[in-house]
Amino acid sequence: MARNLEILIIGGSAAGPTAAANARRKAPEAHITLLEQGDFVSVGA
Ligand SMILES: Cc1cc2nc3c(=O)[nH]c(=O)nc-3n(C[C@H](O)[C@H](O)[C@H](O)COP(=O)(O)OP(=O)(O)OC[C@H]3O[C@@H](n4cnc5c(N)ncnc54)[C@H](O)[C@@H]3O)c2cc1C
Repeated sequence: MARNLEILIIGGSAAGPTAAANARRKAPEAHITLLEQGDFVSVGA
């Protein structure tokens, strides 16, 4: 079902990587893109 699922997440500080990790768990085959306008994403991601 999740085969063609595209997920776009804006923001790579705290909420963004958390959302990406949850999305990966729930939809292992989804294509997930995370956009961050700054130079770094969360060190906890
Ligand atoms: C002074 C201060 C101290 C804090 N101390 C603590 C603490 O000790 N412990 C704690 O748990 N919490 C603390 N917090 C709260 C914590 O920082 C926030 O709850 C948390 O950072 C929220 O994360 P977020 O991902 O929702 O948003 P943000 O951290 O605001 O991240 C949003 C990200 O989205 C990016 N972004 C925005 N627009 C775009 C765009 N158009 N395209 C691409 N990227 C974009 C930004 O560059 C940013 O990286 C503190 C907050 C402040 C202000």
